[in-house]
Amino acid sequence: MDISSFLQKEELHKEDVIFLLGRTAPDELEQLYRAAYETKKEWVGNVDYYRGLLEFSNRCIKNCNYCGIRRDNGEVERFDTPREDILTMARWCYEQQYGSVTLQSGERQDEAFIDFVEGLLRDIKSIGNGALGITLCVGEQTKETYQRWYNAGAHRYLLRIESSNPKLYATLHPQDGHHNWNVRKTCLDSLAEIGYQVGTGVMIGLPGQTLEDLAEDILFYKKQNIAMIGMGPYVVHHNTPLGKKVCEAGLDTAEARAERLRLSINMVAVTRLFLKDVNIAATTAMQTLHPLGREMALKAGANILMPLVTLPQFRSQYQLYDNKPCLEDGQEQCRNCLSARVASVGDTVGWGQWGDSPHFFNNL
Ligand code: SAM
Ligand code: SF4
Repeated sequence: MDISSFLQKEELHKEDVIFLLGRTAPDELEQLYRAAYETKKEWVGNVDYYRGLLEFSNRCIKNCNYCGIRRDNGEVERFDTPREDILTMARWCYEQQYGSVTLQSGERQDEAFIDFVEGLLRDIKSIGNGALGITLCVGEQTKETYQRWYNAGAHRYLLRIESSNPKLYATLHPQDGHHNWNVRKTCLDSLAEIGYQVGTGVMIGLPGQTLEDLAEDILFYKKQNIAMIGMGPYVVHHNTPLGKKVCEAGLDTAEARAERLRLSINMVAVTRLFLKDVNIAATTAMQTLHPLGREMALKAGANILMPLVTLPQFRSQYQLYDNKPCLEDGQEQCRNCLSARVASVGDTVGWGQWGDSPHFFNNL
């Protein structure tokens, strides 16, 4: 069957999703991305929303095999952004009409960290009388902690499942009892029960990952009733167990990276076609693999951008993977550069708006 008959189907099933994810021919990709962009326009509009991304600390108790700020990476100098600096950046986001901020860090579960985040949320909430939407992305916590942070003003939470396949997940993490797929899934359930707009996502192009795994990831988003998707290619970090393995096996060639990018854009497009009214981020990792990676994602159905507002002096110590872009750019440059990218695909920016996921409200 030819791709257009798949794109005309009222409802896509798992086999259809696998077929679409596997397309590589340029004319087929063009049709796939065009259909996804039309779906984006119809369900969420061709307006893209900003979340100023503040990576405020790289301290982490976890040791994920792929991540450049994992606990055992001694090459990293650990930092905590002072509270006043975080608030200054949040105020800057408000003045620039970003609409929302995302606070991201390594995972910590100690009381001092929980209190710090709670206080921070209340302070950010007071800027412009609650003008900023707040997304948290600080890993696995108890339900009680999630509730405290929700009460303090966070209303979205991003926790990638990394892979919906527990066996693949196990190959990506140390088997030390602290990296458990079921715990992560339970966190997603708790967040939804509390009332957060829940975001999740996966890494794409992982060693051992099949098209069926990726199709299952999209079905997982649906089953979990996920409102926001943040996914992107796996990118090698030289000083991690997975990065070393991939490089030693000769699997980080230019062709392999191009393939991971294509698969990532296909995932954006098929997720848009399958889920329709969710928010989908055009992530920085896509730009790492191609200078126009984020534009490609916007053209394939993504509608969220996360301009970096991490303090410039800390950016080089928050490298989850090698060759992370924008390390030298100030926040003004990130703002202008992204606005140009949005205009280049024919979209507009939803300045000053939260840009919540329509799916969240359609399902209340
Ligand atoms: N520590 C929290 C957590 O893990 O949920 C939040 C921050 S963590 C750095 C955010 C995301 O970075 C992870 O969910 C993971 O998918 C992504 N990440 C880490 N290393 C990566 C790599 N080498 N390539 C692509 N994404 C990576
Ligand atoms: Fe820590 Fe998150 Fe990196 Fe895992 S992915 S090592 S939890 S920062």
